[in-house]
Amino acid sequence: MNKKWYPCELHCHTVHSDGDFTVERLISTAKERKLSGIFLTDHNTMSGYEQTQNEKELCIVKGIEWTTYFGHMLVIDCDSYVDWRDAVPDNIDEKIADVKEKRGIVGIAHPFQLGTPVCTGGHWDFRVKKWENVSYMEIFSEGSPYINTLNLKARRLWHSLLTQGYRIAPTMGRDWHRETKNIYKSACTYLLIDGEITAGKMKKAVEEGRTLVTNGIFMSFNDKNGKTAGDTFEAGETVLRISTDLSRHRELEPEREIRAEKFVLCSSEGEREYPFGDTLTFTAKENEWYSLELWGSTDGRENTLLCLAAPFYTK
Ligand SMILES: [Zn+2]
Ligand SMILES: [Zn+2]
Repeated sequence: MNKKWYPCELHCHTVHSDGDFTVERLISTAKERKLSGIFLTDHNTMSGYEQTQNEKELCIVKGIEWTTYFGHMLVIDCDSYVDWRDAVPDNIDEKIADVKEKRGIVGIAHPFQLGTPVCTGGHWDFRVKKWENVSYMEIFSEGSPYINTLNLKARRLWHSLLTQGYRIAPTMGRDWHRETKNIYKSACTYLLIDGEITAGKMKKAVEEGRTLVTNGIFMSFNDKNGKTAGDTFEAGETVLRISTDLSRHRELEPEREIRAEKFVLCSSEGEREYPFGDTLTFTAKENEWYSLELWGSTDGRENTLLCLAAPFYTK
């Protein structure tokens, strides 16, 4: 099969909760942004999904944002309803297990958002013990991603979970409620999909950790065996072939310059810098995770994280 990265937005609201978008307007705006798919995640309701049934071009996955006093949790494509109203810090593992049993997947929304009173319950205070049941985490959320210190905190939490052996996909969540100027237009999550995109394949890409988070620049990479984000590599001398692409960004936001300057390879041992180019050579350890990042400048900011890929792993 032919694998391709598709630009998607995985956190969207409409007038069915507190968004300003009607469902139609959300769909048309997503298409204007050259997105291939969205997760529809209104607060505590899925009532907007019915109105998406006639949409043929944009792929739409049914989801809900559990909006509680203890955190916001994205629940995607459950076979049947799971009641969110009794979710509290000490039973969250059971609630998540219930979602998994109904073939849904779970993501942590904006884990370090300022909570009450700025945004009720927006800070993640649920006490998850079974992180193996969490599929993804918003490493970058709203605002101008990559420059927000709350986002860098989320990245640190995510790295520590990877080091503990959990496989969690990174995502970018626009937390899209309305047109806002302060969110970069070309920022999105790319999903790696076999053949044509479908709602089922979007869910699978997140579940399998085939994601790429970007503020506009696209990056793809593979080793000599064609392996990439989400795959298991051989340990030892590794050459990554890397390519970047700004075409979608230039179409959407030609006024914002993005300049790639270096790669950073993260693992349980920390972060190592490499010069920007079309290859990166390093020695991969056994039983390790590696997440490739691209750093550079944009929007008048130097030394900024531009793009990061879901990890690949070694045996
Ligand atoms: Zn939220
Ligand atoms: Zn939200």
